[in-house]
Amino acid sequence: MEEKIICKSCGEKISGTYVNLGFSCTAALNCSKCESILFISDYDDVWNKYPKLKEAKFEPHNRHLLPYWNAIELEYENCDCGGSFNFMNPPRCPLCKGSLGRYTYEDKPILKQWDRYSFVCGKTYKGEEHKKQS
Ligand SMILES: [Zn+2]
Ligand SMILES: [Zn+2]
Repeated sequence: MEEKIICKSCGEKISGTYVNLGFSCTAALNCSKCESILFISDYDDVWNKYPKLKEAKFEPHNRHLLPYWNAIELEYENCDCGGSFNFMNPPRCPLCKGSLGRYTYEDKPILKQWDRYSFVCGKTYKGEEHKKQS
């Protein structure tokens, strides 16, 4: 169902749809430059390659996860716009390309992990189809 949200950067109304990350996929990696999103499914074999990511361990703001995410990000091709898909990128506005939401995760993976939904208002990529050729 289409919904409208207000971009926190430019104040314009943006149309899109919410994707429930719990139901359909594990991770949404936003593009560093545009509104595109890379979705990595639960069944992607990238998780077998980096099993430690799933291990529970406490560290303030879950910063210990960043090195794993950095490795996983390298598995995927860049966005068509030239930007890169990174776990900690905030969702971007299709109009002003600024941050769509109220915060930018402040380098705290836990804030990103708390996102239960991803707002899709542009192109999406599937992880399995967007891997770098080895
Ligand atoms: Zn905007
Ligand atoms: Zn892009």
